[in-house]
Parts: sequence; structure tokens; C-alpha cells
Amino acid sequence: MAVTMEDAMDDAPKHFCGVVAMAFNSDVKSDLKKALRVIQHRGQEAAGIAVFDGATKYVRKMGLVHEVLAGPEYDALHGNVGIGHVRYSTTGSSCAQNCQPIVVTTNVGDVALGHNGDLVNATKLRNKLQNDGWAFLTTTDSEIIIRILANELTQSDPVKAIRSTLKCLDGAYALVIMIGGRVYGARDPLGLRPLCLGKLDKGYCLASESAVFDILQGEFVRDIAPGEIVEITPTGFTGHKMSGPAHTAHCMFEWVYFARPDTIMDGREVYDVRKKLGQVLALEQPADADVVIPVPDSGRANALGFAQESGIMYEEGLMKNRYVERTFILPEQAKREEGVSLKLNPIRSTVLGKRVVVVDDSIVRGTTLRKIVYMLRRAGAAEVHVRIGCPPVIAPCYYGIDMKTRDHFIAAGRTFEEIAELLNADSVGYTSVKGLQSALGLSEQDLCMACLTAEYPTCVPGEKMRFQKTLL
Ligand code: SF4
Repeated sequence: MAVTMEDAMDDAPKHFCGVVAMAFNSDVKSDLKKALRVIQHRGQEAAGIAVFDGATKYVRKMGLVHEVLAGPEYDALHGNVGIGHVRYSTTGSSCAQNCQPIVVTTNVGDVALGHNGDLVNATKLRNKLQNDGWAFLTTTDSEIIIRILANELTQSDPVKAIRSTLKCLDGAYALVIMIGGRVYGARDPLGLRPLCLGKLDKGYCLASESAVFDILQGEFVRDIAPGEIVEITPTGFTGHKMSGPAHTAHCMFEWVYFARPDTIMDGREVYDVRKKLGQVLALEQPADADVVIPVPDSGRANALGFAQESGIMYEEGLMKNRYVERTFILPEQAKREEGVSLKLNPIRSTVLGKRVVVVDDSIVRGTTLRKIVYMLRRAGAAEVHVRIGCPPVIAPCYYGIDMKTRDHFIAAGRTFEEIAELLNADSVGYTSVKGLQSALGLSEQDLCMACLTAEYPTCVPGEKMRFQKTLL
């Protein structure tokens, strides 16, 4: 029973998208490319950049950043301002037509847009606009945003036009926008998706994750506030805050799974949060064991925290084959199956005759973990205890994470004992919702935890809205 790449794809929540924007006093092309490579983990199906040099030019295609941003088309791009995007499709199918940045021509100039997140009112908006005679070229919700913006730009200056556009949107978005030679960023009023500002030698930069600024030898300046529109120039930035709800709803999964461990997001370092989640897990769900091992690489910080808190020795117990990643990029099952090969293999000396705690950051379907438990037993583990640094995922996400069907969640409607039985583990334990909040240092009111609690921070048809119980 091998752990294959398609197991891992089915098991893990999928990445969504990442965005960057730059305004420099010199050419931005190569720095946009470097920045997108830093956030490649956020989307591996497609990539693209748009730059402005008197006119808007762009390259966007299916593929990894280094594949898309190469060759004569890329070489021909020049400009001191630009935006970039990496994509995993959550809304709209995976095809070349849906790659970003999206560029439209208006009578006030070209507009380019990159979007991370999903709108919950996309269907309603699209139907209304189509009834009004608007035509769409793609199936993405991002095109709805740019079409509304292009229309608003005929009546207002860029900031007013962006503000009016955002008022029509409901859901999750971090946007980078280029209007002629001016560059803007915007974040949804609940702060569901991340966006931050950095200063580099050559100018200012917006990015989904702060690790971009470190790797480009720059400095993190601040997070874009929920509901804020920011314009960046080579010499500075201007923020325009929109009025919004009293509470935020930062996506807890950014810290739990998606973001790079070296990123600082809304004031909290991802690695530190994951280690604390492991510590909380050890306190809440202790195990009598001889060794703690991570599921590499996702569970490493959680496992380290668990080992530190429990006093149980930390060891590497699973070897990961790093040279098969490329075949992960395409979502269709048939394409994934093309490159099936072993992904994980146990290290026998770590587990032979031992009571093993195997730790991962999250679990969605459980396919991979079931195979890992089997593998560890086959390699001679005396007992296998599964510990997960995130509470059970039981409900779909409507904000840009590809977890849409309730039937897929191993934890939905099951007790820990029933999950242990399914995984053939000696025990299973998860960090609690309270434990997650304490590791994050954020209150329930400022987090989105809808996939854990089934209480959503926005109105989603057929679902319960958070705080409803206290409002009624
Ligand atoms: S539902 Fe879950 S994955 Fe989706 S935004 Fe909320 S916390 Fe994040």
C-alpha cells in the first residue's frame, strides 16, 4: 500500500492563488518572476505577469512560474510597474483562458487584475450582468470584478472606481490591479485572504505572503488592513480604508496549512503558530509513546511542538521523495495518474518496535494517513497514534479553498474512535477549536473557522452564519 501522489492530492486541501504587485524606479519583470516563485506553493497550475510601459503587455499560461516566464514573449516585456499571479482553479475550470492577470481594454486605458479568493455572490452578479447584456469571456469570478471595475472607471477616478466595485462583492478577495501605469491592491472587508506591503531597494511591493520581501532583500512594512485599498508608487504608498464590519475573519487555514512557515501574516509567524498548535495538541491529546514523527513536510512544525511539550523524542520517520512534485500541478485525476510513484517511505530504524505518534497539520479525506498508518505498522511500529494540529474539518469552504463536498471529509459525523478505526490507528486526536484560537492568539470573532464549525462569516445560501445564535 504505497502513498502515491494522487492520494496526497486527494487528501490535502488545495492551494488557491497568490498575487504580487510592484512599482519600481526600474524594470520589474525579473523581480515579479522571483516573487511569484516564492509563492509558487499557492498555485501551481498557471502563472502570469502584466507590466506597463506606455501600454499594458502580459504573459500568462498554464505551467509553473519558471516555465511560463521564459522565452521570447517574456523577454519582450518591459516596464517599471506590474502585477503577477499564480493560480490553482477554485472557481472556473483549469484552462489557458482562465489564467491571470486578466487584462481588459477600456476607454480610460488597459486594466489588469490578479485575484486570490472566491466570491460567494459570483453567480448572482454574473446572472444580473448577463441579463443587462454584459458578455464574459471566462468562467472565473475574477472576470466579474474586472468588468464591473472597467465600467466604474468610465465614471470615476481609480480609487473611487475600485471602492464602488468592491461594494458589489461578497466573499474573499485579495486583489492586485494595474490601471494604466498605476498599481493598487485591495483586501476584502473581513481579511479572509492575506495581502501585505513591503519595501524593496527599487520601490514598493504588494504580495500574498511576507516571505517575498525577505527573499527579495526587502522589508515587510505592514499588512493591508481588511477593507483597505492601497496605491503603491516607487517612492511610497497611500492607503484608503473603507468602512467595514466590526470583526475580521482571517482564514485559519492560512496559518494551519497554506502559507509558508517563514511568512508573517496579520502579525503572526506561520512557523511559530504551527509549533504552538503542536504544543497545544500534546496537552489536549497526549499519547503514551516512544517517538514523535512528522508527516513531511506539512506536519514538521506541529510534530516538533508536540515533542517539545510531551518530552517524547522527535525523529524523522518518513522519507519523502522530493523529485515527483511536478506532476502535482494539474488537477484532473487522469493527469495526476500519469505520474504515479511512491511519495513516502518509512525509516525502519525510527519505528521498529516503537510506539509511534505521527503528526500532521490537517486532515481532509484521510486517504494518505490511512496508508501511512499501514506503512508504519508494516515497518514494525508497535503502536501508531495519529495526532492532527487542526480541529476536524467538517464543512465546505466557499472562500477559495478547494474543499467543497461534505462527503469527502473523514471527520464529518464521526467520533475520534470511529476515525481511528477507519485509519487503523491505535488512537486519533485533534487540536480543539479553543486550542487553535489560543495558538493563534486571535478570538473566535476575528477568525474564519467555518470549515470547522459550519458557521460562516458571510451569508452563504443554505449555511448558518456565524454569531447568528447570539443575534437571534
Ligand atoms: S472555511 Fe476554512 S478554509 Fe475556508 S476561509 Fe474559512 S477557515 Fe479558511
